[in-house]
Amino acid sequence: MATKIPDAPKIGMVSLGCPKNLVDSERILTKLRSDGYQMSADYAGADVVLVNTCGFLDSAKEESLEAIGEAMAENGRVIVTGCMGDEADVIRAKFPQVLAVTGAHQYEQVVNAVHDASPPIPNAFVDLVPEGGLKLTPRHYSYLKISEGCNHRCSFCIIPSIRGDLVSRRIDAVLREAEKLVAAGTKELLVISQDTSAYGVDTRHEPRMWKGREVRAHMTDMARELGQLRTADGVAPWVRLHYVYPYPHVDHVIPLMAEGLLTPYLDIPFQHASPSVLKAMKRPANEAKVLDRIRKWRDICPDIAIRSSFVVGFPGETEADFQYLLDWLDEAQLDRVGAFRFEPVEGAAANDLPGAVPEEVKEERYQRIMEKTAAISAAKLQAKVGRVMPVILDEVGEPDEEDGSIGATARSQADAPEIDGNVFLRDVGEGRKAGDMFDVLIEDADDHDLYGVPA
Ligand code: SF4
Repeated sequence: MATKIPDAPKIGMVSLGCPKNLVDSERILTKLRSDGYQMSADYAGADVVLVNTCGFLDSAKEESLEAIGEAMAENGRVIVTGCMGDEADVIRAKFPQVLAVTGAHQYEQVVNAVHDASPPIPNAFVDLVPEGGLKLTPRHYSYLKISEGCNHRCSFCIIPSIRGDLVSRRIDAVLREAEKLVAAGTKELLVISQDTSAYGVDTRHEPRMWKGREVRAHMTDMARELGQLRTADGVAPWVRLHYVYPYPHVDHVIPLMAEGLLTPYLDIPFQHASPSVLKAMKRPANEAKVLDRIRKWRDICPDIAIRSSFVVGFPGETEADFQYLLDWLDEAQLDRVGAFRFEPVEGAAANDLPGAVPEEVKEERYQRIMEKTAAISAAKLQAKVGRVMPVILDEVGEPDEEDGSIGATARSQADAPEIDGNVFLRDVGEGRKAGDMFDVLIEDADDHDLYGVPA
């Protein structure tokens, strides 16, 4: 007689918000899976639905409430977690039937709530968690969260009040997780936090032993160690740094990019350029010489791609401030830019600042910055036509019905997944798969994407 294994309870997950939230969802699912739960891809098959919410902007809160409403209507057994879980009264007022509400990073509480709502069935045959945990991103790239919280108090942001001050992970724990991810097939590590350059400030950069040597909890040391990792077939994974503020020590990671240890890419959320707006925003590492430093970075590593985001229509932003930003962008020639219209967030200090910018002015400035940055991007991409460069493959298409040729979507080192552009490939041949890395010849470009063929 074979032992009959009872069906395990099934969990549905709706994950909203930023990559950091996605990593939290992965952690929760990894723990639940190791407790013997199965996953459900739809509401109907789930015994419990988890909604991991985002509460960063008012629009994100609206989206979170909508998602909870949908899960309640479709399934009815719902547990809410994540940033908006800190406003349990708002959620309970709207959805009194939710089974439990837990806040951001309360892994244990959310897992306990699932245990209460749908107890796990004890058996010795539950699947082991796959190496590297359960992942919601494709297997070939992974987010590596190095810290929680933030010591800054930017006036438009409520993250420190939701997530608290900076708490850095131990360097050996970060490197061990990265090593596991690479061993499990990750070809690209995306280092994330609220403030990557501040990593280890709270622990005074406490060193730990790693591979027989002392390594500090410091961005530069971490970057150097991540650059030594190799996949099972000896390939160096791409390592991309996100949310880097331009503190002086950022200069030390640029040579690592020139040496090929780090992907030549920096995501620096400048948010503005005008000194008076930056002051009102209370931005960290807000210094006048940043343009000089960008020039020096490009001297050391000519291929470096700099990505940033900007807010237009911040309270008190004058036409002169905005024009300063456009002129600054002309000088800085950033490779990738995201722009946002200022949106007041409940609880943010910026809401009390004088000089609210009318919506139509915000909109007009938004259009102008988008035009400016699209033109810069188009010119920079055009300059890449004719070059051969490495790409990582994200998705392979079906063979063309007429000639059987196969196209694919890939990214260059200048493109982070989800937020930057793509390299669209023709004639990739058979046998290619997501995560493959190879050289391509760039044949064409538009405002945001490149087009090419395997070299
Ligand atoms: S650096 Fe500023 S915007 Fe970023 S999380 Fe900290 S307070 Fe918020």
